[in-house]
Amino acid sequence: MKFGGTSVADAQCISRVVDILEDHRQAGDEIAVVVSAQRGVTDQLIEAASALPTAKDPAAIVPLIQALSKRHMTTLEGAAPDSIAEVGSIIEEHLINLQNILFAVYNLRELTPRSKDYIISFGERLLAPIVSAALRQRGTPSTVLDGCEAGILTTPQHGESTSLPESDDRIKRKIGPLLGKEVPVIMGFMGCTRDGSLTTLGRSGSDYSASIIGAGIDADEIWIWTDVDGIMTCDPRVIKDARVMHSLSYLEVMELSYFGAKVMHPRSIEPAMRKNILVRVKNTFNPGHPGTVIVRNGQRDHRVVKALTYIDKVAAININGAQMIGRPGVAKAIFSILADHEVNVMMISQGSSEANISLIVDEAHLPVAVEALGALAKQGVVREVTANRDVCAVAVVGAGMAGAPGTGGRIFTALGKAGVNVMMISQGSSEANISFVVSQNDGPRAVRVLHDEFRLSEGSDE
Ligand code: ADP
Ligand code: ASP
Ligand code: MG
Repeated sequence: MKFGGTSVADAQCISRVVDILEDHRQAGDEIAVVVSAQRGVTDQLIEAASALPTAKDPAAIVPLIQALSKRHMTTLEGAAPDSIAEVGSIIEEHLINLQNILFAVYNLRELTPRSKDYIISFGERLLAPIVSAALRQRGTPSTVLDGCEAGILTTPQHGESTSLPESDDRIKRKIGPLLGKEVPVIMGFMGCTRDGSLTTLGRSGSDYSASIIGAGIDADEIWIWTDVDGIMTCDPRVIKDARVMHSLSYLEVMELSYFGAKVMHPRSIEPAMRKNILVRVKNTFNPGHPGTVIVRNGQRDHRVVKALTYIDKVAAININGAQMIGRPGVAKAIFSILADHEVNVMMISQGSSEANISLIVDEAHLPVAVEALGALAKQGVVREVTANRDVCAVAVVGAGMAGAPGTGGRIFTALGKAGVNVMMISQGSSEANISFVVSQNDGPRAVRVLHDEFRLSEGSDE
């Protein structure tokens, strides 16, 4: 079971978490717990660390440490009053360590990916001992493990690392023996490389941690506890009448999270899918709601389109003069250079008659991508590279779209009627997803039009 940032935001929330865990233990379940940082803490750490190399003075460090101390000590006092001395000193030690590192970043004027990872892992580091103490306070034996101690071994890609196959055996060895005897509380979001350097798994990475741990221990189920009743037909902050879905397939959730549905980390389905483990998304604040069940074959119900998502932190790149006809090396040159620079290409479209290729990339990767492709222009491989940040990608998801002709027509007719200009279209090979690109302004409206067109707020999919 993984509990997200809002689920552990204060002492009251943590006691709700303990209630849930107690209920399940009493029902005979053996549970391993993954926790993320308290809501907002990771953001605070990222912001502070990123500003220090160019800050004119280190004045922000001490107030940050004090704020983190106050918040975590208050939570500790409310959630586990018997452990104030013991856990309080752990928190204090972490904060001294963090403060020293932040001063070092300021003094060195350098924030390496490796030190950044270490710094941003402190949200989980500070919180996990409190949750574990809250369990002990209620009589449930519990110990704390960081991601590395729990057995998560990753690639060295700091900030966006991926779990390695060896993690399975290590997790089984480390967590397996604890199950049933206690409730281990594992810090989400982090692992380590073979040489012991700490890595983080990307934003929202605790979902991924939970799935990696679940796969490692061959769990019967992986539960993601969050602050909404389940995965909804669209981001409820964009579409007010979005509806909770009863069941989805792994593929559908992968498509949704890959295209920006913030409810889950994009890679968090992979480990569960590899072991065919059922994933449930549930609301910590409404545990009676059944939530969303994610399995290999979600219901192939009457709904062809099940959910929508959009992602606005993307940019379009147009490559002109990429004379591909009779020159097969050009595509290779473009995609190799982007891969070498670790640019994440989300969508590709190529005009068949014109020598033009359009790509959608992560907005954060745009400068690197443009520079890399600029080198190809200098070599004469392509003529011109232009970029447009004012775009967003919308994904229409539903496994039932495979073999249901006319869905594309319906999507683009509805958008056309609403006057939404579609700049690029792509259909994934899985056929569970049709995605397209519109201007940033049109994103929310495009989603609204399609949510209505496919009547996604109506009825239930049960
Ligand atoms: P946690 O801290 O529990 O990991 P997150 O904030 O990362 O929670 O994710 C849950 C939030 O995701 C919800 O509060 C909701 O606003 C947002 N969200 C975006 N898209 C969806 C969706 N399709 N279904 C449900 N929630 C979504
Ligand atoms: N605390 C991390 C983040 O904010 C991981 C997570 O919440 O899942 O990204
Ligand atoms: Mg999350």
